[in-house]
Amino acid sequence: MDFPTTCPQCAHVNRAEFADSSVHDLRCARCGARYCVLVRKQKFEVLFDLGTRALMDGYAREAVASFAAALERFFEFYVRAFTLEQAAGRERPFEDALSALEGTWRHVSSQSERQLGMFALAYLLREGREPDFLTPKGLGTDFRNRVIHRGALPTRAEVDAYAAGVFTLIDRLLTELGAGAAHAELVQEQTFAAHVRGLPDGVTVVFEEHPGMFRARRFGTLSPIPKPAKAQLQAAQSASGVNDARAFQQALFERALEERGSLLRAFKTAP
Ligand SMILES: [Zn+2]
Repeated sequence: MDFPTTCPQCAHVNRAEFADSSVHDLRCARCGARYCVLVRKQKFEVLFDLGTRALMDGYAREAVASFAAALERFFEFYVRAFTLEQAAGRERPFEDALSALEGTWRHVSSQSERQLGMFALAYLLREGREPDFLTPKGLGTDFRNRVIHRGALPTRAEVDAYAAGVFTLIDRLLTELGAGAAHAELVQEQTFAAHVRGLPDGVTVVFEEHPGMFRARRFGTLSPIPKPAKAQLQAAQSASGVNDARAFQQALFERALEERGSLLRAFKTAP
């Protein structure tokens, strides 16, 4: 996936390949100036936005893999945020807590079932209740496996429902995390700072906040999505006969798509 960047010297638009590290060392194709673009975005956000773009472009099946990966990376983000939030209240230096976290994560990094176990405990410890949404139905596991591992061709409606379920879950957990998310985001800021310190003189550093399906809401640049009133939900339920949790997920996702989908066009737009 590539995205447009603007040269800080001559304003020429150069496209950059989105890097796993979110760090992009670039040289302008027109004036030759060197600059570094640091994109403040977490992996789960990048993946979810990619899935959304694929869905909007009509690649429903391809979108499923991105949404599934976004959910897995979000669980990792949650574990990191929780662990660093806990460490922040203690005497121990942040770097020590981070290196213990990274060492621990290496034990689970190649198996998503282990990661899910870490998440379940983190959720229990932070919220004091069972993560009752971690059921195959709640996570859309059967659907995901049919599409990703068994090559099933899903209908657009099935993918929409899956996307809405993943979106609503991440959105809800981010809301619960609240300021706690900042502890995991701090790690990215530190990585950026270390990279900037190592840059030679004459390189311009550009920080970017890309809009996205979650970020726009977290930074308050777009209107929050109110939970529909109970009466509205009941009306929708009796009119359609659909389970109201499902209807709410769909409404939330559709609203977010309407508000933010067009902002995602900056990514993946043809040069
Ligand atoms: Zn230039």
